[in-house]
Amino acid sequence: MIKYKTAEEIELMREAALVVSRTLGEVAKVLKPGVTGLEIDKIAEECIRDQGAIPGFLGLYDFPNTLCISPNAQVVHGIPSDKPFEDGDIVSVDCGAILKGYYGDHAYTFELGNVKPEVRELCKVTKECLYKGIEATNGSNRISDIGFAIQQHAEAHGYGVVRELVGHGIGSTMHEDPQIPNYGKRGRGKKIKNGLTIAIEPMINMGTEKINQLEDGWTILTGDGMPSAHFEHDVAVVNGKPEILSTFDYIYEALGIK
Ligand code: MG
Ligand code: MG
Repeated sequence: MIKYKTAEEIELMREAALVVSRTLGEVAKVLKPGVTGLEIDKIAEECIRDQGAIPGFLGLYDFPNTLCISPNAQVVHGIPSDKPFEDGDIVSVDCGAILKGYYGDHAYTFELGNVKPEVRELCKVTKECLYKGIEATNGSNRISDIGFAIQQHAEAHGYGVVRELVGHGIGSTMHEDPQIPNYGKRGRGKKIKNGLTIAIEPMINMGTEKINQLEDGWTILTGDGMPSAHFEHDVAVVNGKPEILSTFDYIYEALGIK
């Protein structure tokens, strides 16, 4: 059942989403070749707690850390490790936080140093896919139109759209109805209505859409070892239009872009 949110609830969700946005901004300041996932994870946990919030992933379904950190061929759900990142890596960082009983959940794929042009292109197009999905989150559409928009854009570039993992409703729990697949046909599923709050999160592979899971029970890898990118925003439908509750502005500020 979809839990549609009141205007007050949406404001609380925005605050939770912005805790995550600021945290990703702190991550952006320190994420460089030579740094490890565990170092980043510690900084993120402190940043979340300093804002009076609680890490949203830590302990959720027994996940061991604050961040999911998924470099290169890892799609999502990577566990932070002590292996230093290298020049040319792309690193997807997914972060969740709980503030005043509501969840924020968003993600960015960072480019470290000299990333190959074709891998940069994958990141660029995956971010565009996110905004295509957000644009489709409006009162004239149905849920499947979001995935349709994402899939069209990704496949136009020859990329693989991961099927097994999806976006989701979000609110006082991390994962609520409805599921938001990153693929689909037009005009299926429930009508998009005011008060819908969802996390849209395209996971786009440079090669095959197929994935594997590591024996750690968490890490998702591309089936062919090629890179994968992941961007996520929290979105509310207000007056028939999508309103992005999270922001990449803190990241852009830290990286000196835009
Ligand atoms: Mg996420
Ligand atoms: Mg999510």
